[in-house]
Amino acid sequence: MRVITTAADFREAERAARRPMGLTPTMGYLHEGHLSLVRRARSENATAVVSIFVNPTQFGSSEDLSTYPRDMEGDLDKLRREGVDLVFAPCAAEMYPKGFDTYIDVGEIAARLEGAHRPGHFRGVATVVCKLMTIVRPDNVYFGQKDAQQCLVIERLNSDLDLGANVVALPTARDADGLALSSRNARLTPEARKSALSLYRALRLAERLYAEGARDAGAIRGRMADLLSAEPGVQVDYVSIADAKTLVELDAIGGEALASLAARVGGVRLIDNVTLGT
Ligand code: AMP
Repeated sequence: MRVITTAADFREAERAARRPMGLTPTMGYLHEGHLSLVRRARSENATAVVSIFVNPTQFGSSEDLSTYPRDMEGDLDKLRREGVDLVFAPCAAEMYPKGFDTYIDVGEIAARLEGAHRPGHFRGVATVVCKLMTIVRPDNVYFGQKDAQQCLVIERLNSDLDLGANVVALPTARDADGLALSSRNARLTPEARKSALSLYRALRLAERLYAEGARDAGAIRGRMADLLSAEPGVQVDYVSIADAKTLVELDAIGGEALASLAARVGGVRLIDNVTLGT
């Protein structure tokens, strides 16, 4: 496994690499969710590439960039064990050198949900993913459905800017009790982790109500919000039942819908989602 830290070196390695090439972009502190993407990329490509970059431009000024967990050596050990070929791990100055002044704004799909609650977040995501895809030139690029809106934003970006990759979205990996794996879970106290399980319970409730025939999106959102507000230490950012493709909030569920939510638990912001009607 080769670890490369500059765009120039990566381009050179890329020219010699076997195709197809699969890229899994990450911010590191790798867990089984990331590794499920890496395994899929490994199995579908002649060259498996993972990027590790905690991207400053996707964090707001009041967000957790400085406390975001990091463990480069541990991450590299895990990736070696998965048989990854190339790791691209640039520093911030490599990706954003002095004078950097070009950003990518994806439109409507990026304005909703996370976009509305984290202004500038998807601008940072789209900019860094576009840069990573330009440097790495992957045939396939792997993302987690855990960040469902991010998948839609990247599909839009890939299509609108002709980046030419096949975008693959893979299911959310969860702990045995249902909590979605996230690097940020490392910052939960045992008590906060228990409270965080209410996010999954709220999504399960939505699934159950839907399975029982409920189609009134407002009523489902209300039941989810009630469940979350009964949990001490959980502050809800949003609860959404939206069209799974456009993320427009629904009155009534017809086709495929995304039930998603964001909440702060013990100072840690968590998101999760499930799809209804698949
Ligand atoms: P991150 O390091 O949080 O930026 O995540 C890197 C990639 O891993 C993104 O495509 C995420 O959607 C994906 N990912 C994060 N958590 C999970 C999970 N629990 N299951 C599946 N994919 C995940």
